[in-house]
Amino acid sequence: MNIDQIFKNNQAWVNEKLGVDPDYFKNLSEGQAPEVLYIGCSDSRVTAEEIMGAKPGEAFILRNIANMVSNLDLSAMSVINYAVSHLKVNHIIICGHYGCGGVKAAMQSEDLGILNPWLRNIRDVYRLHNDELNAIADEAQKYRRLVELNVQEQCVNVIKTADVQIAYRNRNITVHGWVMDMATGKLIDLKIDFDKVLKDIMEIYHLD
Ligand SMILES: [Zn+2]
Repeated sequence: MNIDQIFKNNQAWVNEKLGVDPDYFKNLSEGQAPEVLYIGCSDSRVTAEEIMGAKPGEAFILRNIANMVSNLDLSAMSVINYAVSHLKVNHIIICGHYGCGGVKAAMQSEDLGILNPWLRNIRDVYRLHNDELNAIADEAQKYRRLVELNVQEQCVNVIKTADVQIAYRNRNITVHGWVMDMATGKLIDLKIDFDKVLKDIMEIYHLD
């Protein structure tokens, strides 16, 4: 991708938007009220807005390696706080993807420098679901399942945040766990049964 081309693309996009609505950018600049918070992977192939057909103003976005939500990550915690408590989004989506390099790296025991502490969170997901994963003989299948379980655990991490707990008490907010299958382009709703998943952890984290 050529840098000059990016500015040409941008001008073409501005012209296209103004061609449909001369006030498009004037209205856009007046504020945002997105319906969803999307937390996905930084992978260049999993473009949040494009795969959802979301227009500017519709989705608040956080992307990092392997769509992680760590309570020590000031960026993730700030994004969740702002989206949930200020913008009042009604849906939070954690979207993983099959073929995720971050998840793959966490399955190997290589030393990856600065990535080690980040990937350790995924290794913790593996440890939590050790029995289920080790029962899968096929490596490719195990890899896909770890992608799904990582999404599930990051959803739980979102639910544990104070902002989401307060929102649960006061209004409707729904957390969704999705996976994007790059081989088909399709988004898959994992339909995670959060009542079941959370039942066991409620007492420990004092959630209600
Ligand atoms: Zn990824």
